[in-house]
Amino acid sequence: MNAPHTSPLVAETPSLFEESVPGRRGVTLPRLEVDETPIPKELPRTELDLPELDEASVVRHFTGLSHKNFSVDGQFYPLGSCTMKYNPRMNEEAASLSGFRRSHPLAPPAHSQGNLELMYRLQEALKALTGFAGCSLQGAAGAQGELAGVLMIRAYHQSRGETGRTRVLIPDSAHGTNPATCSMAGLTAETIPSDKDGGVDMDALEEAVSGGKAATLAGLMITNPGTLGLFEKNILEIIRVIHRAGGLVYGDGANMNALMGIVKPGDLGFDAAHLNLHKTFSTPHGGGGPGAGAVMAGETLADFLPGPVAAPAGRVPLGPAAFGGTGEAPPEGTPAYRLIRPPASIGRLKSFNGNFSVLVRAYAYILTLGGPGLRRAAEHAVLHANYLRHLVKDRYPTPYGADRPCMHEFTAAPSLGNGVHTIDIAKRLIDYGFHPPTVYFPLIVKEALMVEPTETESKETLEAFAGALNAIAEEAQTGAELLKEAPHHTPVGRLDETAAARNPVLRYTPGT
Ligand SMILES: *Cc1c(COP(=O)(O)O)cnc(C)c1O
Repeated sequence: MNAPHTSPLVAETPSLFEESVPGRRGVTLPRLEVDETPIPKELPRTELDLPELDEASVVRHFTGLSHKNFSVDGQFYPLGSCTMKYNPRMNEEAASLSGFRRSHPLAPPAHSQGNLELMYRLQEALKALTGFAGCSLQGAAGAQGELAGVLMIRAYHQSRGETGRTRVLIPDSAHGTNPATCSMAGLTAETIPSDKDGGVDMDALEEAVSGGKAATLAGLMITNPGTLGLFEKNILEIIRVIHRAGGLVYGDGANMNALMGIVKPGDLGFDAAHLNLHKTFSTPHGGGGPGAGAVMAGETLADFLPGPVAAPAGRVPLGPAAFGGTGEAPPEGTPAYRLIRPPASIGRLKSFNGNFSVLVRAYAYILTLGGPGLRRAAEHAVLHANYLRHLVKDRYPTPYGADRPCMHEFTAAPSLGNGVHTIDIAKRLIDYGFHPPTVYFPLIVKEALMVEPTETESKETLEAFAGALNAIAEEAQTGAELLKEAPHHTPVGRLDETAAARNPVLRYTPGT
């Protein structure tokens, strides 16, 4: 298989300044309706150095730039742990309905009943999907949901006078946001190693809560399926160990794509979890756009949820009953839905009602698929990951759990020889027209390549991607230089990503 060279990431585009032609215009100003008045001498205008172009050139310039970007709409985007699935246009249509789009954030509940009803229904749907007693839609991202979860655990222990419970156990395969969240919440993160199967090392876990150590345990944060793409088979025992020691269990539920409609974390005994609505429920993740990290809580923590949350009017706003329990009927003429603050709430995470348009998209997605459809989506996500893993297993073996099915993603440890590293494979994939998978994560896998194909890709796409990976493995034998210099067809190739993030050049300076 030859690299097709059809990448849209072609040559460099000149800046609008370079395309500028003196005197060219792209706007038609409305006719002056008042008398022309000279500008007072004390307000002189300096000549601005702006490019001069016609409208078509400007449109083509920006459209051309947009085509240089990788996107789910354009290419396969198997970025592990990000669930870059195709986002149905229906959801966009729903989010742009003018009743939602134009609603004022300060409108009183009586004037935003539709919005509150949508939030309430979404909360209920997410509760049904996860088996939790309460849900708050305040969080703007997965990491913010995590922060809420850990603050809720802290508040719970404080409410019982157990202020010495400050240690949070985190498996070494966890997402980097987990330990960061703990430090932000003023707690101490403690790493638990993985065993040889990629699960939590049970002896290390027991040891971490043994004897006097139990009294300082706040809880455990765990991702299941973990970042190796494996279901934690000891999860029930892990939760029992933590509960026995007086700790609570937080589930990083960013990756519900393998479990929707199959396993409910609430039923497993998790005390809280967040969901990334902008991964699993089809708003794109990773573009830096708005997200929504719904926070879910079981009976123990529901009262501590961030608020406000939507509730039917007339329900008693106490405890888990507030989240769908039966209460007295609202008095005649009262709005059907209202916003309430959970009784022991850790407070607000975000202004107004969170990132509302993401909530609309998630709700539209859930309604479109329904319960059985969501389950089928999860089953296909798992099937696709396993099929792809099988197609590339000879050159891209999975160091953990190779004898078990993976969940919605898998983490391979390629070893192509000739000094070829994972970064070279990732860069070469761009030449083949594919977005590279997640690389060098999780840290416990050397040269990790973490692939999440998602349920929305066809068999042909999966096979084409496997073909590219296997062709790259061939190229590593016949001409490793080709890989080391990749990508070959993009305006820029290998960036100093740290400098690009920390010192971005956002301003055009002539002559640079
Ligand atoms: C994506 C992800 C997060 C963080 O979500 P953000 O919305 O990017 O903050 C946390 N944990 C896991 C496992 C994830 O995949």
